Amino acid sequence: MTQSRKLFIKTYGCQMNVYDSERMAEALGGNGYDEVGSPEEADMILLNTCHIRERAAEKIYSELGRYKELKQAKPDLKIGVAGCVAQAEGAEIMRRQPMVDLVVGPQSYHRLPEMEARAGGREKVIDTDFPEEDKFAHLAARPKAKRGPTAFLTVQEGCDKFCAFCVVPYTRGAEVSRPAERILTEARDLVDRGVRELTLLGQNVNAYHGQGPDGRDWTLARLIRRLAEIDGLARIRFTTSHPNDMSDDLIAAHGDCDKLMPYLHLPVQSGSDRILKRMNRSHTRDSYLRLIERIRDARPDILLSGDFIVGFPEETDNDFRDTLRLIEEVGYGQAYSFKYSTRPGTPAAERAQVEEAVKDARLQELQALITRQQRAAQDAMVGREVGVLVERPGRMPGQVTGKSDHLHAVHMTADLNPGALVRVRIESSGTNSLAGVLV
Ligand code: SAM
Ligand code: SF4
Repeated sequence: MTQSRKLFIKTYGCQMNVYDSERMAEALGGNGYDEVGSPEEADMILLNTCHIRERAAEKIYSELGRYKELKQAKPDLKIGVAGCVAQAEGAEIMRRQPMVDLVVGPQSYHRLPEMEARAGGREKVIDTDFPEEDKFAHLAARPKAKRGPTAFLTVQEGCDKFCAFCVVPYTRGAEVSRPAERILTEARDLVDRGVRELTLLGQNVNAYHGQGPDGRDWTLARLIRRLAEIDGLARIRFTTSHPNDMSDDLIAAHGDCDKLMPYLHLPVQSGSDRILKRMNRSHTRDSYLRLIERIRDARPDILLSGDFIVGFPEETDNDFRDTLRLIEEVGYGQAYSFKYSTRPGTPAAERAQVEEAVKDARLQELQALITRQQRAAQDAMVGREVGVLVERPGRMPGQVTGKSDHLHAVHMTADLNPGALVRVRIESSGTNSLAGVLV
């Protein structure tokens, strides 16, 4: 019997990191670790990092600095850095913070238990390889540990698209899809453990082309249709998609697969063709708008979400106005927006940069527009009957809270357990959530 030890994981960045952190926690469970909620209690601290925007590495170094006293008080404490900063910085992390025992890149997580066993004291362990094997296949879950009603499941990783602003192709590597059978096995296991809603993840999830049990490459739509056959699985979502990989069969699935939820995150980044070209996005404003039209033909009530970058190098005020016009034209229910952030090693880093104050002003204007649209989409739910998956008790006594089919947070007063799937009539719309009554 391995001795019980405590693990604290701090996760930065996207949902794929959340999924990776869960897998790492489960893998380290085999080494006797149980997760805890604070670094002070921990025998091992693992930072799962993100490199997508500037100062990511600096943030990690300053976070590590805060653990110095903990390490002095408890010399056996192991400190590890995982994720995209680990991949990008490698051994530099140990040079700058010698108290770090272990550095592991996103493609080597299956080697973590063995690395953890070796690391500590004078022994520094580092692995930022891109091995061939499917790391998730080696990251076995602890048998039958109970789960909440929603879960992420990574089906695809990496990216071959090389947008001029983005580090993902460098930190996560080339696009790889997991075999369908492994995903189906993992999904069935999650459902057995209480999961009712799965969100399939990938940096370009709709480029999924994993091998099917028939030996052929399956599309994401085919995978979704097979997942939909799993009894007990009620809802399927996927994120993040690239406009160029939105195939006809995936659009059709949005129209006729009941378990596929009416929500789509489809980043466009900019509404200006001139900027899209410089971003190397390989789609135009018009092709994006036509795509949205086809998706809405298949599923008229779909709620659209997007990503926008303001202040990309050489973006003029006219370019920015084109982006605002595109947002007006599409009508988003939700969106993420960012100021362009220089990423060393990417093509756009070398170009003429937009002034910070201009970026700030553009971001504010764009976010104000998105907030108005988001609120309008939410308000439009009042009076409608929606499906809600209960996730947890609410803040008020007797209240529960969950997510609607369109991913709105919904509160209601009801005696229900997490995992209950109910119909709710929406009565009011607040700042960030809806309130309703059971039908
Ligand atoms: N693959 C997805 C796509 O192409 O839409 C996006 C994945 S990326 C991890 C998430 C978002 O981060 C991007 O859609 C983009 O808006 C933003 N992002 C990436 N690099 C950025 C940069 N250098 N500066 C600002 N935002 C950036
Ligand atoms: Fe980055 Fe997405 Fe472009 Fe790939 S498609 S380079 S992940 S923004």
